[in-house]
Amino acid sequence: VRIEIITIGNELLDGTRVDTNTPFIGAKLAALGGEIVRATTVPDAPEAIAAALERAVAEADVVVATGGLGPTTDDRTKQTVARVLGRPLTLDEEVLARVRAHFESRGAEMPEINIGQAMVPEGARPIENRRGTAPGLVMEDDGVLVFLLPGVPQEMRSMVETYVVPFLEGRGLKRSWEERLIRTTGISESAVAERIAPTAKRLARVEVAYLPGLGGVDLRVTGRGETLAAAARTADRAADRITDLLGPFVYARGPESMEEVIGYLLTMAGATLAVAESCTGGLVGARITRVPGSSDYFGGGVVAYSNDVKKRLLGVRSTTLRSAGAVSGETASEMAEGVRSKCHATHGLAITGIAGPGGGTPEKPVGLVYTAVASKSGTRVSEHRLRGDREAVRERASQAALDLLRRVLLGVAEE
Ligand code: ATP
Ligand code: MG
Repeated sequence: VRIEIITIGNELLDGTRVDTNTPFIGAKLAALGGEIVRATTVPDAPEAIAAALERAVAEADVVVATGGLGPTTDDRTKQTVARVLGRPLTLDEEVLARVRAHFESRGAEMPEINIGQAMVPEGARPIENRRGTAPGLVMEDDGVLVFLLPGVPQEMRSMVETYVVPFLEGRGLKRSWEERLIRTTGISESAVAERIAPTAKRLARVEVAYLPGLGGVDLRVTGRGETLAAAARTADRAADRITDLLGPFVYARGPESMEEVIGYLLTMAGATLAVAESCTGGLVGARITRVPGSSDYFGGGVVAYSNDVKKRLLGVRSTTLRSAGAVSGETASEMAEGVRSKCHATHGLAITGIAGPGGGTPEKPVGLVYTAVASKSGTRVSEHRLRGDREAVRERASQAALDLLRRVLLGVAEE
């Protein structure tokens, strides 16, 4: 089922208001199995509304329009729809009674202009508005369903949930796809594509969407089928193939966060963690402790921003700081080893780097970050060149550090 969304309002185009109706409707109807083919935003101008509507009914099976149903003169949607679809407006007594009752329940008399809200295109059915006065409307035109909903987000949402969704379900709209999420980190979007695109292209009834973020590239694998079970099998098989191709870059098969994965791995290994953070200033500790039950494996750590704290609380040697510098693999190692022994943890994790915007040099540019993990089998260090502004570097650094720990816990060999 092809669905088109039209949002109407000058305020949506001149930057006064952000259109939140489109994503809401899109999410609800896509979850139902609809294919959202287009979303258009037009001003409160009859010609613009007419043009959008004509195009939509020509190309989609379902059109959902919001806005411009109110009683004020800048709201032209209904007249325009009536004209485009050739359905003269007629007074709907039931709607009129409801609008009048709405005012009377508040002890007010209905203003004359609200009579307009009871004018309904011929053959259209009103949709009750539980949160306001303007009713929604639904009509069928040459097999195309047209919903007109109020612009006010709460009113529109309640109508979508209580009316539009059940209505479309009643018409047999149901999902024929299943999605699987694959989360990767430490690999760029183009490198992911290089590895998987040739295979992904050959997978029938499968689509792969790349969703890059600061923590890595997520892949959304959609499988289609005659039944949901068939779609699930297709999606699972495709996700398995893709996961194999990406190997250790995949940290989750599903919506779990890196810190949840780490928590699981530490628990399975009976291991405990302590962290020493420089440029991330506690971000890793915050992430770890976001997971309920993290006290089982996380003892704490040290935010070691200055050299002095690195030396005094973590035992980093002055000679190391002098010869290799605070941002170096050597310092990261000593931080990880120091925090591991001071906190009596099985694993010590450390981060040191240059988050920027200042502090970079040609040899040590902004974004240079070292992570280290110390454990009984030794200390592993990793060097990263991270992109982005200060916050992005910090976020990426925390992810890189947790990923190094993940690889150590899983016994993934160094590249
Ligand atoms: P009313 O009966 O309240 O007049 P209406 O259908 O005429 O409803 P509009 O006048 O177009 O709706 O908009 C009402 C309010 O909802 C305005 O504050 C408008 O900015 C807001 N609104 C309209 N469309 C959207 C949208 N797509 N996203 C977010 N807000 C919207
Ligand atoms: Mg408006």
